[in-house]
Amino acid sequence: MSVATGIGWDSHRLVEGRPLILGGVRIEHDRGPAGHSDADVLTHAVIDALLGAAGLGDIGEHFPDDDPRWKDADSLTLLGDVCSRLEAEGWVVSNVDTSVLLERPKLRPHREAMRAGLAGAIGLPPQRINVKATTGEGMGFVGRQEGVGALAVATLVRSR
Ligand code: MG
Repeated sequence: MSVATGIGWDSHRLVEGRPLILGGVRIEHDRGPAGHSDADVLTHAVIDALLGAAGLGDIGEHFPDDDPRWKDADSLTLLGDVCSRLEAEGWVVSNVDTSVLLERPKLRPHREAMRAGLAGAIGLPPQRINVKATTGEGMGFVGRQEGVGALAVATLVRSR
């Protein structure tokens, strides 16, 4: 097998008094996702997509949320760790596509910074990472601003 694809999905509850961090970028907002790590839902979805493509389980298995080592962990560091693991297993990341589901604030002004954050951690040019953003149009947990979600698809190719 020379090419493999994986998907990732994550969601976190939005609460007051937490920073909103997406793709390693801190975005000014009156609330942020609750979670054990920095709760970077976008980076978590990317990690699950990469692990999925490589057949290496999921983020909860590698970074359990009851392990004090990952308390307030920088998710881009976790993403870097996962990429080192993929490299050791003979995989190269070809590209990653993502969608963030958030009612507000608008993410477009932060899109390039999020791409750059993810690309830096993965070790790819930003052109190989795509970050899209959409709202819930007032519907469901996203639309009611109860939470933030993210989807990712990753494609890996064999390096050997
Ligand atoms: Mg998560």
